[in-house]
This record gives sequence, C-alpha cells and structure tokens, in this order.
Amino acid sequence: MNTVSKTTKKLRIGILGIYHESNTFLVTPTTYADFEQGHLLLGGNILSEYRNAFHEIGGILEVLEQQDNLEVVPILYAETTPSGTITSKAATLLLQLLMEQLNAALPLDGLMVVPHGAAVSEDIPDFDGFWLTQVRKVLGSDIPIVGTIDPHCNLSQEMVDAVNAFVAYKTNPHLDQREVGKEAAGLLLHALQKKGSLNMKAMHLPMAISIEMQHTGSNPCKALYDLSRGIAERPFILSVSIVLGFPYADVAEMGSSLIVVADGKGEYASEALEVLNQYMKANFREFSGYKIGLADLLPKLNAAEKPLLLLDMGDNVGGGSPGDSTFLLKFLLDNKVKRAFVCLYDPEVVSSLAGVSQGTSLAVNIGGKTDRNHGDPVLVEGVFLRIVSGEFSETEPRHGGQMRYNMGTTAILDTHEGTVVMVTSRRIVPFSLQQLIQSDLLPTTFEVLVAKGVNAPLAAYMPVCKSMIRVNTAGVTCADMKSLPYVRRRRPMFPFESPTFWFEGS
Ligand SMILES: [Zn+2]
Repeated sequence: MNTVSKTTKKLRIGILGIYHESNTFLVTPTTYADFEQGHLLLGGNILSEYRNAFHEIGGILEVLEQQDNLEVVPILYAETTPSGTITSKAATLLLQLLMEQLNAALPLDGLMVVPHGAAVSEDIPDFDGFWLTQVRKVLGSDIPIVGTIDPHCNLSQEMVDAVNAFVAYKTNPHLDQREVGKEAAGLLLHALQKKGSLNMKAMHLPMAISIEMQHTGSNPCKALYDLSRGIAERPFILSVSIVLGFPYADVAEMGSSLIVVADGKGEYASEALEVLNQYMKANFREFSGYKIGLADLLPKLNAAEKPLLLLDMGDNVGGGSPGDSTFLLKFLLDNKVKRAFVCLYDPEVVSSLAGVSQGTSLAVNIGGKTDRNHGDPVLVEGVFLRIVSGEFSETEPRHGGQMRYNMGTTAILDTHEGTVVMVTSRRIVPFSLQQLIQSDLLPTTFEVLVAKGVNAPLAAYMPVCKSMIRVNTAGVTCADMKSLPYVRRRRPMFPFESPTFWFEGS
C-alpha cells in the first residue's frame, strides 16, 4: 500500500472482483487451486494484466486513470474458467482474502466491482449477492459502488441491493467488455459528481432465455437489444442492461432479468423497465431455440457450406462443462467425416503419450472420463503428430477479453480419415483460433471444426467458417433446459411452465 497517496486529496477508487460462472450440474467442484491456476491477482498485478486487454477492467482503468483527481486502488481480482460449484473451503478462502485486501485498501471514496454474477458456492447459492453485501457493509451506504456483470449472470435482489448500479455486457459473444467497463466507470464518476444520483431498478422475468437464442447479433436477441439501445437514449436514462441468464445453475435467481439505471428519477427507470417487460411478454416464445439433435445432423452437415462450425451445446466449456464429451467425436468418426477438427480435455491420454515418437501409429481411448453424462471414451486410431506446450496468446478482441491462455501440455493426433484430435491436459474454452494456429494447425485446412460452446466461439471461428450448426447434445450445458434437474429455480417460468402471472392484470 502506498501510504503517501493516502495523504493526498485524490479520491480513492477501488477495483475488486470475484468472477466465476458456476455450473451446479457438474460433478467436479471448483477449488481454490482452480482460481490460483486462473487469475488470483492483487494490487498492481491487476493493472498489468488487464490495462491493455479487451476486458472490463481495461475499460474501467481507461476512464479512471484519465481523471486527475482520482487514485485507482486495485484490490483483488479472482477468476477461473467456468466449472462446477465452488467448494466451501475455496469460498471461505476467497472471502477472507477479499476482506483482508478490502480493509487494507480503506479508506475508499468509491468502488468498482467486477463479478460475473453466476457464482455459486456449496454453502452460499447466491455467492455474488453474499460477497457484494459484505463489501457494502464495510463501505457503508454512502460510498458509491458500481459493477459490471456478464449477461450470463443470474441476478439476485441481494446483488441489486448491494450496489448503486450494474452494467451488463451488451454483446454475446462478449466483444464489448472493455466498452462496458468504460460505461460503468462513467456511472461511478456521475455518482461521485452528483451524490445519490444513480437510481437502479431491476426486474426478474418469469422466463429463462435458451442459451441457443442468446446470440446478440441475430434475432430474437438483436431486436431486443435494439429496443434497449433506444430506451437508453430516453431522458434521464443512464444505462439499460439485459440479463440473459445462466441456465446451468440451480439457484432461486436462475433466469432472465432487466436492469435500468436512471439519473435520480426512479419513475423513469420504472417506465423504461415496463417497456422492455411488455416486449418480452409479447415475444418470449421466440427465445426457446431449435434443438437440432445428432439424429438430424448428418444431412444438415453434408449440405452445409464448408468450412462448417459445429457447436457442441451440451459440452459448452464456457458454461462450465467438462470439455471431454465424446458425442460429436463419435459422430464424426462413425460417419467417416473427413478433415474435421475436435478438441477434448483428457489429461490421462496426454500423460500416456509422453515420450512417444512423432509418426507413431496408435489407438487410444479419448474423453468421456469426467462422468457418465458426456458419452463414453471413444477409441481413436491414427498417427501421433506432436506434443505442444498449450500456452497461447490472443491480441484480437475475443469473447472473455483474456490475452493469455494455457490449455496445459497438449497432444495432437491425426486419424486415418484426416480428422485432427487435439487432447489437452487443462480444460480450455474455444474462444481463440490461436489455440490452433500456435499449435501449428491451420484452421482453414479443415472442413468441419467442432467448438465446445454455443455463441462465444463465433467471434473466433466465424471469420474462417462459412456456416454453422448448433447441436443439441446431452450434457451439463444441454440446450434443452427441461432435461436438467432443477430444484431451486423460481416458478412458474417459461419454458418449464406457462408464465401465467405475467398476464394477470394486463
Ligand atoms: Zn457470458
């Protein structure tokens, strides 16, 4: 801590975040070691990691560091790849670290918080609501707190009550994270200049938008976001956010929500929310998805223009799935699809290939090892190509805004049909084509590329693919929400039940 700066008159603005998307249907929990392997950054390390990134913290810094009267106080940023429920032990350690670092950073005149909004721990289903409430207790009610959230957040009332304003990313794939960081930092400046001016209203909708329909570049989302941008232009409206929701967490707040932040005038925020509410009430059925299954896939695959992007919705690593589902790998091998690329997580296989010579023929069982929900291991016969370190970097704006990736030691095999199977020793999100390029694989040489995701991979893959098919595979991120065993979600809720109360009084 810089003690000199505490004596200056500059306003001290903290930056703080615990960022996780927790899939409660995955058997593998998220541990403290997972955060250590992801990002567990304190102080100045937060600045060096994100200042130049297409990430919300980069945008926050861009705005705050331009202000002569402010001092940025980076406190803590903890993040790891979406995965299972956070263990009690990890949650306790994170909360202890949060409190230690926050108390050491006091006094603060304002705070930027950077949650994802879909974190769940074993003991605390609304983990974001919990830690944000703790932070508010430390700062008291007078210090403005403004946050960014991922639209795959499950917004709780506790989260809303703990902060003065939230801004969600407005794109999926998330390419505007830096812009949203700037917007949120702008709201904090507004609150510092005009005390008590931020008036946030939120509304929880009786629906969960299907993951398949969450691409903001196409309808129905495009029309919804166009409407929200128009509303943001209204008098006294400072910010409008659509929370798409994260269907893979069995929590009371699972589902879609709306947020409007107004300049003081609560009634303007309420009116704006109602316009969006009426729109969703009239159009909610459009948000349920197509669900093309494996049984329908082959003719569509054959007819599609190549290169074709196949999206494995049931094994959406960015939604917390294991990354070792074999349904699409088996489909490609059984149907002798040529020149395909598929990546699976299987550290056992990578270890078993240590020391094997390039060009060696082999037969190895890959994937299907995390649980029984993602297919059985599949026998892959072919040639061992090489081992790579698995570290790669991305400089373009891509979903997630990260610049450095590490998929662990990675083995690359080539089947007799010319399909390349990449096997990683860490779970990896398919958000960057550098994953292939920096492993000496040229994406344009493939006819079919499998990405374990739904919308996020589009930013990286669509520049080299001429078509795409989202496949409704089984798994913990299955697009068919009705197949998932929810206990805690709100009811009634579309698409599970008819949202009848939405229509009462209308
Ligand atoms: Zn997201």
